[in-house]
Amino acid sequence: MNNALRGRTALVTGATAGIGYAIARQLAAAGAAVTVHGRNAERGAKAVQDIENDGGRALFVAADLADVEDVRRLAEEVGDVDILVNNAGVYRFAGTLETTDADFDEQINTNLRAPYLLVQELVPGMLERGDGIVINVTTVAASTPAAEAGIYGAGKAGLELLTKLWADEFGARGVRVNAVAPGPTQTEGTAALGDQLIEGLGRTTALGRTATADEIANVVTFLASPAASYVNGAILAIGGGSLAIRPAA
Ligand code: NAP
Repeated sequence: MNNALRGRTALVTGATAGIGYAIARQLAAAGAAVTVHGRNAERGAKAVQDIENDGGRALFVAADLADVEDVRRLAEEVGDVDILVNNAGVYRFAGTLETTDADFDEQINTNLRAPYLLVQELVPGMLERGDGIVINVTTVAASTPAAEAGIYGAGKAGLELLTKLWADEFGARGVRVNAVAPGPTQTEGTAALGDQLIEGLGRTTALGRTATADEIANVVTFLASPAASYVNGAILAIGGGSLAIRPAA
């Protein structure tokens, strides 16, 4: 895959940790100049340093995706970009009757509204150039309801619907839009929930284990490359078989 993205620019949201960090490193290793986005400036600086140590090009821009004005400022600072990866996301587990207004708003605003706003801001430039790629990171919980992840899954299911809509809306004008739907993946975010939870989910997949962030990033890097030139409107499950089987009760 080396040099497949030479001369391209990319924005990866939520690249200060987990899956986004792995995506940013892989896109940079393939030759793209990458904007690493997140809120945590210390982790952002480390991600940039790691990419530069590998011989890649990167810069960090901080923005809170739950805030409309901050999302617009992020887009303005980034300017023209060839590859947009809407990766940043938050998960707050609670049953429907226990979900607070704040948790509802944070998940919908970060996981659904922010990608929508970034597409509104950044896709017009891609359409003008007749060339661009959008990749949305969803979840297997968008297709099969997961206990205590209703609003998380609903927001991501909305993002999957928009993926197909945008693939149709922009495809003939040179912009491909796809999504990857990860299953349980070891990241800083899941570590904060406790390793037991994610490892238990990993055991319910057909492969019987969790994914690494790089196993998700591999597929994103493929979708961003010319090798995926006829892939548009696809939702690629990377769930170790999570969607292929129904776990035993
Ligand atoms: P993570 O380790 O928790 O990292 C989340 C990233 O998103 C961080 O870089 C964080 O940046 C950023 N972020 C979160 N809220 C933000 C906000 N309001 N504004 C700006 N940045 C924000 O997450 P992950 O586990 O890698 O998940 C990445 C994506 O994959 C998410 O969309 C998630 O839904 C999806 N996914 C994950 C799994 C899994 O098992 N890990 C499974 C399916 C889908 P800062 O910390 O710098 O603010």
